[in-house]
Amino acid sequence: MTNFPSNHTELIKRVNSVVNDNPMSLTEIEIPNRNVSLFKVDIPASNSACARIGLFTGVHGDEPAAIASILAFLEQRKWTEFPNFEFVIYPCINPTGFDLGIRENIDSQDINRSFTGKGTPESLTVRKSVGKQKFDLWIDAHEDPEETGYYMYPLFSDESWGTQIVKQVSTVGPINSKPVIDDRDVKDGLVSLPSRQELSAFMKTTDQWPLALYAYSALGQNGMTTETPGQIDFDTRVQMQLSAQIHSMRLLQHSIL
Ligand SMILES: [Zn+2]
Repeated sequence: MTNFPSNHTELIKRVNSVVNDNPMSLTEIEIPNRNVSLFKVDIPASNSACARIGLFTGVHGDEPAAIASILAFLEQRKWTEFPNFEFVIYPCINPTGFDLGIRENIDSQDINRSFTGKGTPESLTVRKSVGKQKFDLWIDAHEDPEETGYYMYPLFSDESWGTQIVKQVSTVGPINSKPVIDDRDVKDGLVSLPSRQELSAFMKTTDQWPLALYAYSALGQNGMTTETPGQIDFDTRVQMQLSAQIHSMRLLQHSIL
């Protein structure tokens, strides 16, 4: 993507200009102890709503293609393919980290280990803003700066979705062929996850929840964490993110319409 915004102010300016030209709204939410805010875009369904999609991006400040894909989703009006869906979009959950180009927030905290317990200013603000909303599909977009191939954590109700999404993404860029990433078994770009029961038990043993565990436990048991490979060119990574997002939405659309 050409002209990727170099800072949070620039990013929100771009988001705002899409919001001004389309039937959607932008909400600014103060983050305690920060001089930058959390921003949220709400896109209502243009027909009668039958599903709600949550897009969560930029928890890590050094994963630019994830943020760029949400900007592309907005600027290229990708939501118009889904007139029955309403979207709740957080384009940048870690504005201080984004401005500094670092994974953590300005206090060196990994927000993606703070989605339960006392949390961080950013995770608490997201949780408060989401409230009791439920989502039919949530997407937690990330990048892995060290990798050369795409992989993902599939938390879908229908286990075939992960395979279908990876297949689609493989038409855009390389899929990770490693058998193990971050101590987890991986097959054809899909991280093997514990069963739902084991996952629930595991969640009770740790207070360092990533956003995905919070989403899975509070927002709905149908979602994914995408990881595009930081070692390949930027535009391909953005297209891979978009491909995963849009294909998951198409699968949801097929399953309910
Ligand atoms: Zn990340």
